[in-house]
Amino acid sequence: MRTAIFGDIHANLEALDAVLADAAEQKVEKFVCLGDIVGYNADPAACLKKIQEMDIPTVKGNHDHDASENHSLDSMNPIAATALQWTRDQLDDDQRLWLKRLRMVRQVTDFTIVHSTLDQPLHWNYVTNRFDAMSNFSYQFTQLCFHGHTHVPRVYMKSDKVQEVPAESVSIEADAKYFVNVGSVGQPRDGDWRACYCIYDHEEKLLTFRRVEYDIETTREKILAANLPPMLADRLLDGR
Ligand code: ZN
Repeated sequence: MRTAIFGDIHANLEALDAVLADAAEQKVEKFVCLGDIVGYNADPAACLKKIQEMDIPTVKGNHDHDASENHSLDSMNPIAATALQWTRDQLDDDQRLWLKRLRMVRQVTDFTIVHSTLDQPLHWNYVTNRFDAMSNFSYQFTQLCFHGHTHVPRVYMKSDKVQEVPAESVSIEADAKYFVNVGSVGQPRDGDWRACYCIYDHEEKLLTFRRVEYDIETTREKILAANLPPMLADRLLDGR
């Protein structure tokens, strides 16, 4: 079986459609979502509807949380806060309730999914190096755990020590654990504008990272037409 694992869609419908099409070409049978379906870009309701219609197992991201609650956004950076208030206005009560009810951590077949980390999933910690990854492994009881949140694909491997291995094609070793950041569909931040996701081949014990081109001009036009901060359109071009 092949499973596509993706997240940080951030209301980028063109990128989501491109990833789903690429995954179908890659003979993927199952899809899993790591949260942050909404926030930043201009299609929160359409992206949410697609995940719901395909009945894709999903965990809650910080933007899903913020969009589904009513707390003040004053402490957030102004661009994210503007986009989140706009997002709240785009979603109806049922959609916001659906986001609110998402779980923080789930097990899907033989692996675990979380948006940020297993040790403190509600704290939305960023894992940017192997030291950050160490505390997660203490709470990881499956061989594989997939996460997102930083929008940068990375693979942390724990055998006798914790190390980072290149996020390209990874053969899963029997006696090691892996904490895998699958990158971002809708707002990559590793300098590559293309949508990013990961395919897990259960029989081959292989992880493959995919980069997929999408109609970025349409996405940018929608952001500007919605009067969202123009910086959100510009950053997509740079993958930042
Ligand atoms: Zn995100």
